Amino acid sequence: MKIDGLELSLASDGVFKLDGGAMFGIVPKPVWEKYFSPDVKNKITLGTNVLVIRAGKNVALVDLGIGDKFDKRLFDIYEISRERNLLEDLRAKGIERTDVTHVFITHGHLDHTGWATTYHHEKIEPTFPMAKYYMQEETLKEIKEPNQKTKPNYNYLNFENLSEHLELLNGDEEVLPGIRLVKSGGHTKGHQIVEVRVGNNTFVYFGDLIPTSAHIKPAYVMAYDLYPMDTFYKKREILEKAYEESWTIFFEHDPTTPVAKLSDVENYTLKKISF
Ligand SMILES: [Zn+2]
Repeated sequence: MKIDGLELSLASDGVFKLDGGAMFGIVPKPVWEKYFSPDVKNKITLGTNVLVIRAGKNVALVDLGIGDKFDKRLFDIYEISRERNLLEDLRAKGIERTDVTHVFITHGHLDHTGWATTYHHEKIEPTFPMAKYYMQEETLKEIKEPNQKTKPNYNYLNFENLSEHLELLNGDEEVLPGIRLVKSGGHTKGHQIVEVRVGNNTFVYFGDLIPTSAHIKPAYVMAYDLYPMDTFYKKREILEKAYEESWTIFFEHDPTTPVAKLSDVENYTLKKISF
């Protein structure tokens, strides 16, 4: 979609699977399985939708899929499946690794930071050598100080040799004209969402605050969330605004409805947007 000199599109790093119960927290299975049909192991298939923003000479990516630094065990756990990976998908859009100038990272989890780094001659280096990688300072702290609950959600290779490329934020910041990173908390303490305002249009990428269209109701909070009540209140507050201002909403993990608008804010119904 092109609008006032800005171009927005989605790229993908393929699909993967997570436990359906963990994805829906306290929501009972008979309710969530109306949105996602689980396989025999109760896993559901999720997308890795990366938002690509082109503004003049700047090319920004929001989140970075699962990447290529997986051993066989993790590959089997997440059942990663892809016709092409994120780098191949970007190339098909005419974007090479060196074209990327900005990377906005919602939070540090391994399914959001995969392509932050990659192997080059058996050494790990930043995948996008010309880019600054923006995340909240709190996120880096959470990555560096994990506990038994949070550690399995990180792949530490995604942050190796990356420190010179990091731009750490403390709270909300406009990083490019019209593009704001907004700290939301909830899913993790340092979680941020990305707001793009062009003219009267607002586009918002929710990361894991609202991972799929099926999570639009404020009470539908993942068991992965570290601060579930913060997620609940933040979603309620933010979706009021999304409805009033008719925001276009991106769902990072939704394999079938990656983009939608709220058509009402009492029942939280959505209208899918083709993108
Ligand atoms: Zn996450």
